[in-house]
Amino acid sequence: MPSLPETRQRQILTYLRESETLTINELVDRLGVSPMTVHRDLNRLAEAGLVQKIHGGVTLPAETSEIGSAPRCAMCHQAIHPRAAFVTHCPTGEQQHACCPHCGLMLACEQTQPALSLTTDFLYGHMVNAHQAAFLIGSGVTLCCMPSVLTFGSRADAERFQQGFGGTLLDFAQAQQHLQRLHLIDPNP
Ligand SMILES: [Zn+2]
Ligand SMILES: [Zn+2]
Repeated sequence: MPSLPETRQRQILTYLRESETLTINELVDRLGVSPMTVHRDLNRLAEAGLVQKIHGGVTLPAETSEIGSAPRCAMCHQAIHPRAAFVTHCPTGEQQHACCPHCGLMLACEQTQPALSLTTDFLYGHMVNAHQAAFLIGSGVTLCCMPSVLTFGSRADAERFQQGFGGTLLDFAQAQQHLQRLHLIDPNP
């Protein structure tokens, strides 16, 4: 049902007083409107200083909110693992954060245009382009979500690590397919 922007924006503020932080997806579900509409509403509210946009969501401005400044995983809402952070920059300008590459592989932008994703190199701790990273799935080292997904900027490093800790080495597209198969029940396999 179409709703007036003012009505929705009041509703968003009401939700935020209840739960401090909301993701774009939660707002899309609750308001029954498109992510673009949610973004427009949040931009209005942010311009008015009523809310603070955070990665993939929104919170009350810092002075009225004690918690909620740290982004949480857009898939499972866990805190972001500092050794495994994964972030996707969508063409809309939205940033989606994931606790680890496991959840990161399941992040999806609204548009199907390619997004830029960055993942944390497990050995060195810096962010690398996920599309060029090596993904080691199901190794003996579990940092965050199961099955464990570790990412390496260098395929050679990943192979050396795999020799010691096992797992399957895949590229971005293969790892994404692998994870989607684990999580989605395809009605037409
Ligand atoms: Zn997660
Ligand atoms: Zn995780």
